[in-house]
Amino acid sequence: MVYDRPMRATRALIHLDRFCRNLRAVRERIGPRRRICVPVKAGAYGHGAVQIARAALAAGASHLAVAAVSEGAELREAGINAPILLLSQALPEEIPDIPRFALTPLVSDREFAGALARSAAAGARCPIHLKIDTGMGRLGCSPAEAPGLAAFIAGEKALEYAGTATHLAAADSGLPEDRAYTEGQLVRFREAVAGIRAAGVDPGIVHAANSGALLLHEDSWLDMVRPGILLYGYNLSGADFAAEPVMELVTRITFIRRIQAGESVSYGRTWTSPRDTCIATLPVGYGDGLPRLLSGSWQVLIRGRLYPLAGRICMDQCMADLGPETDIARWEEAAVFGGAAPDAAELAARLGTIPYEITCNISKRVPRVYMP
Ligand SMILES: *Cc1c(COP(=O)(O)O)cnc(C)c1O
Repeated sequence: MVYDRPMRATRALIHLDRFCRNLRAVRERIGPRRRICVPVKAGAYGHGAVQIARAALAAGASHLAVAAVSEGAELREAGINAPILLLSQALPEEIPDIPRFALTPLVSDREFAGALARSAAAGARCPIHLKIDTGMGRLGCSPAEAPGLAAFIAGEKALEYAGTATHLAAADSGLPEDRAYTEGQLVRFREAVAGIRAAGVDPGIVHAANSGALLLHEDSWLDMVRPGILLYGYNLSGADFAAEPVMELVTRITFIRRIQAGESVSYGRTWTSPRDTCIATLPVGYGDGLPRLLSGSWQVLIRGRLYPLAGRICMDQCMADLGPETDIARWEEAAVFGGAAPDAAELAARLGTIPYEITCNISKRVPRVYMP
């Protein structure tokens, strides 16, 4: 039996129009000639990789980026033909799938480059981008190693040297010491790229900018930018750029009950009503990705008004206090975040985290509903 009605009260509305406006605003900022690579890793930060990839390419992106080989394969299986950068390091066992799914890996070392060349040799040339670590401390060769490694890659017939990349560690911060750190990374990167050229290798597409760098460091734009979070609608840099949040988490009231002063709500009895009131039950919980740590510090929007959550967030449900007198009815819509309600960045701030983590963690159980 196949259940083909993935309809739930709790849904993530994905506003593709807002995503496209964010992308067009990025295009306006960087000018017509640079390329845009859209990271769609982690299911496009929870928004749905295939749908976001299609929207991004239609709106003028040239490249996509994923973290896992499986994520790249999913895009190819959906018929997407654009270049796909593989940002994270693949395992040796995964190497044959890189040329098979025509992915463009970021390469940090000779061992991986050599293995890739041996695996690609039978078919067409495998494009790669060289990854240089200028101060992120995650992946990449050192700037000093870059020219030698570039020459090695360029000498491998089965590989096509197509680009050179680095990643910035603190680019979304406007603090003077962070700005200086980012400038230092960019200086080391430009020197390494010059070294690659001096070694007789064309560095291909040179790229460094994530969202923060795009907004705060114009000299990071180079040949291509890789903004993620900004396109999903969150500007964390403090720079002047109005991004529109793309995801809106909504649900519906499934039950309303009147309780008396002194009665408690939910596990652990952390909340006791100070007055007679009406409690609405909402079918959304930490199993959907609504963080349990938010218990007692979030509000939901119902018919244009905010109502506080009461008691602990459960796996599948949570409760909101509608107050003693209410005309709100069972089955009405409630917005958990986004849209007219406070967005995922505000929610993240309550928890001391970042909106990336909130949207990524909206679980598979929550249907994504695409709004044109
Ligand atoms: C995720 C990622 C990005 C995008 O970062 P944002 O902060 O979302 O703009 C860019 N480059 C690399 C290598 C990444 O892993």
